[in-house]
Amino acid sequence: MISDNMIRLAASNSAIRAMFEEGLRLAAEYGRENVFDFSLGNPNFPAPPEVNRALRDILEEEESTLVHGYMTNAGFPDVRDTVAASLNERFGGTFGKENIIMTAGAAGGLNIILKTLLNPGDEVIVFAPYFLEYGNYVNNYGGVIMPVHSAEPDFQPDAKLLKAAVTKKTKAVIINNPNNPTGVVYSENTIRSISEALDEKQKELGSPVYLISDEPYRELCYDGHSAVWLPNCFKNTIVCYSWSKSLSLPGERIGYLAIPPQAEDGARIAEAAAIAGRVLGFINAPSLMQRAAARCIRTSIDINCYDQNRKNLHGALTSLGFKTTYPAGAFYLWMKSPEPDEKVFVNKAKSLRLLLVPGSSFAGPGYVRIAYCVSPDMIPRSLPAFKELAGEYDLI
Ligand code: PLP
Repeated sequence: MISDNMIRLAASNSAIRAMFEEGLRLAAEYGRENVFDFSLGNPNFPAPPEVNRALRDILEEEESTLVHGYMTNAGFPDVRDTVAASLNERFGGTFGKENIIMTAGAAGGLNIILKTLLNPGDEVIVFAPYFLEYGNYVNNYGGVIMPVHSAEPDFQPDAKLLKAAVTKKTKAVIINNPNNPTGVVYSENTIRSISEALDEKQKELGSPVYLISDEPYRELCYDGHSAVWLPNCFKNTIVCYSWSKSLSLPGERIGYLAIPPQAEDGARIAEAAAIAGRVLGFINAPSLMQRAAARCIRTSIDINCYDQNRKNLHGALTSLGFKTTYPAGAFYLWMKSPEPDEKVFVNKAKSLRLLLVPGSSFAGPGYVRIAYCVSPDMIPRSLPAFKELAGEYDLI
């Protein structure tokens, strides 16, 4: 018999994955080139050549029992040293290997840190719209997710609303910058006001509130934007990084947690997090990928491909009369639905074989998310369908 919790989770299985599966079904029926699947944040550009080269070199040069063996739960010490040195070089700081836990991507890192921090009933604040899996991750450890809405049209989090939402039960706040689903990069002002709000609340409550910074899109910023390095602004920040997007390796499951030395109880949190990873059954992050990530520490995908898609799609949709944010980061366009119930709009789009994700899948109703990490030629091929869709709403 399946547990009550799993029955509930299976029933609410993410609409994003459902749409992805619908895409596969439509592709089988109409041919891949006639389906315009903008549903999943699955990078369409290959990993940089350095990654495959590193993998080959590791297999040839490194000792097999080391590469494929068990290791310290937190990950290879030399890999964690490399990550720490890279953070110190890029952002300034005093990270050492004891502050780094290698993880199975951001999803692994988030689960590890939430298991480490949460007691049942603890609250975790998120800024809506948000990556809805956070709710499941928080629920895994008996926590309660508390969404705080970001204001339209710029979708920057509101520090006043955050302050009002923090209570004695608040253990953590999850922030995701650059943001999925909006593509917004949070301004320095936003980050400063969030840090100040949390500092004040910590003083008032006499207990720490941890800021978990989920950063799989850190390297994907356009037009000179960049994501502020949060540990320099708020000392109780725990960074959750992933190479899924920056090296186009989502299936390989590799990332890390960085728990800064200055974070309150940081050393004990790092020790407990290594054990959390083990008891969750991850044991350690995939070993070959740890070694490859360390060799590719200075490598990142060429974001020009995404940038070109961003410009082409935004330009085309705007000229068809759709209202969308101009994303500064990640690879998502957040578009206003031309009718109040965006699910109806998404269904109309689907009838034209355009696959978009309804904003309610991110606690952002009235909008749709368009993932533009797609093959560049799909964008011009999809435009007649977008044009027909715009025509149905008299946008042009
Ligand atoms: N956090 C956000 C905001 C994401 O968009 C994703 C994946 O799309 C993840 C976490 C999970 O990333 P990973 O593949 O590294 O587990």
